[in-house]
This record gives sequence, C-alpha cells and structure tokens, in this order.
Amino acid sequence: MQFNKIIGQYHLKKKLQETVKNNRVAHAQLFYGGEGVGKLPLAIAYAQFINCKDENKFINGDSCGTCPSCNKYNKLIHPDLHFVFPIAGGDESKKPISSNFLTEWRELLLQNDGYITLNDWYQKIEIERKQAVINVSECNQIIQTLNYTSYESDYKVMIIWMVEKLYYVAAPKLLKILEEPPDKTLFLLIAEHTEQIINTIMSRLLPVKIPRIDDDAITEAIKKRFNVDDPIANQVAQQANGSFTEAVSLLDQSEDRKANFDRFKDWMRMCWTFDAQGLLDFSEKVAREGRESNKSFLQFSLVAIRNSLALNYTKYAYIRIAEEERVFYENFSPFVNHLNIVMFTNEFNKAINHIERNVHSALVFFDLSLTIVKLLKMK
Ligand SMILES: [Zn+2]
Repeated sequence: MQFNKIIGQYHLKKKLQETVKNNRVAHAQLFYGGEGVGKLPLAIAYAQFINCKDENKFINGDSCGTCPSCNKYNKLIHPDLHFVFPIAGGDESKKPISSNFLTEWRELLLQNDGYITLNDWYQKIEIERKQAVINVSECNQIIQTLNYTSYESDYKVMIIWMVEKLYYVAAPKLLKILEEPPDKTLFLLIAEHTEQIINTIMSRLLPVKIPRIDDDAITEAIKKRFNVDDPIANQVAQQANGSFTEAVSLLDQSEDRKANFDRFKDWMRMCWTFDAQGLLDFSEKVAREGRESNKSFLQFSLVAIRNSLALNYTKYAYIRIAEEERVFYENFSPFVNHLNIVMFTNEFNKAINHIERNVHSALVFFDLSLTIVKLLKMK
C-alpha cells in the first residue's frame, strides 16, 4: 500500500516521511484517531516506505511500488510484515490467533485499500461484536514471531490494530516486549479509544494523532471510486465528519434513500389530491419490484411519517435529512398529528405484514393509499 492510496492527510504523510529521512523512526508508535480516517492504511504505507529499496523515494514522496520489498508489501505478504487484530475463539480447528485469519484479513484490506471498520472485520469473520479480543496466546505468538523468525528487510514491522481490544491478562506480555524490543523491530499500534489502553503501555508509545480527513479529499475519493456526481459526493463528504468509511456508508444509504424519498413524495401528493388513476398505476408499478423492495419502501415511509410528526411538534427530525427533504417534511407535517399518527403507524405495519404474508402487493398498496387519503383529511 503506497502513500498515494491514502485519502488526504498530506501534511502527515510528509511528516512521516521526514522521520525516515532523518533517521528518527520511533520503535513503538501509536496511530490514534476516529474511525475511517485512515490509521491502518497510513501505518502500512509508512512501513512500506521505510522498507522500500528505491533511492528516489524521498524525492518522489512515496515508496516505488515495484522493488522486491514493495511487491510483497503491495500484496501484504512480506515475511517481515506482521499483523495482530481482534478475533474470537472459533472451532477447535482454528486456534484463535491472528495468523490463522490472514487470508480473510488480506482480502478485506486489499478490497478496501485498508479503509475498514471493526464492524467490517466482524462481518468478514462472522463473529459477534462483543467477543473479539487480542488474547494471551496472541501475545505469546508476537514474542515468538519477532524473536525467532529470520528477516530479509531492514525492519520487522508489527502492526497491532485496535490495541484497545487487548485482553487485560495479556497486557503485561505486550508491555514486556515493548520494553525490551528485539533489534530493528517497529511497532505500529492503532487505536480509536486511547482512554481504554492501560497507562503503562501508553507510556511506552510515541503518540501520532491521525486527524479527520478534509472534506475536499473525501469528495474527490468518493467521485473517483464510486462514479457519482458532484452534489452527492459533496453532500456525503460534508456529513461524514472526516471519516471515509462513514462517507461510503452514507453513500450506500443516500442512493436508496433518494429514490425512496422521491417516490414517497409523489405518493403522498396523489393521495392528497385523490388521483385515483395515478394511485392505481403507482400500486401496480411498485408491486412489480418484489416484496423485499416493497417492504423496505414501506419501512422508509413509516420513518418519513414519523419525521413529519416530529417536525410538526418539535422542529427536529429523527434522522439527519437533506435540505430538499426538510422542505417537503415541513410542508407535509401539518397533515400528520396526534389524531392520525397511531392509525398511520398501524396501517403501514399492517401493510408490511400483508406483504410478508404474500398478499398481492398491488392490492396492499392501493388499499393503503385509500386509507391515507382519509387519514390526511383528519385535522
Ligand atoms: Zn519500493
């Protein structure tokens, strides 16, 4: 992973390169910051840069990507690049240490250029959020790996991802190796919640704060990777609060949400004007999209109606909404009130229920439309 894959963080990239140039690479560093700011890809790019054999790397401001060391780093298979990350005990055949999960780990990292969240990782290895830790046998393994493996590069690198997940019983072992590190070993620890790391370990680390990514860099990255238009990329970047992973997740939601919102708006207008033919056509068109899609649209509509009620009474929406949506909800909100909200909720839930029980979808939507026509008149 080269520095050119890192989104934003120009100042920090330069600073990290200077530590190499000036021979001031601290042997144990803690990269800390919020989710999705690029701590892990930065750590990998830093390690790759340190071990790159190209003489021009300082002039180019990046590792070469093609020397023998870079070649192995690109695929995350360099024998002197080690990873430790939270895992959970699976079946007996797969002892819960990181090296047994390397295939999944490399796959997830390479797919996402290193921009992953804990949740992505848990989903990848199919475990429950609460169980995952960095355990004692893992720490024994770290000691063994660093002391006994032969190495072919200047530095052996040990990247420990989400070190706050270190099981407390395992902490003294990690501490010991940080205090007496084997020669030419670089520890790059990564954390989001430094307050959960015990003080004795913290005191051994050089903290490197990884700030939020600036909005423009996120906008550019989103446009490049997902082929979306400027306004959407801009909006997503502004809401993501400096996190690339958050931007990606907002993007997923926003495309569905925009389609659902436009449809909801048209539907409510037809109900308000009692456009019977329009409602018939609408019901048939929606029905053709299948039950899963129908259900998700009805669930979206239910949230939309609750949003309108919330805006009617409090001026605050339940969820963060785009400006275009806010204008509609504010206009629509007088029609959702304490007289009809319970009925709205019941009728939508009933419709979802019917869809699940395979009642003909077009019929469900048309029936529901007629009920909405009546409910909207209750003031
Ligand atoms: Zn290289």
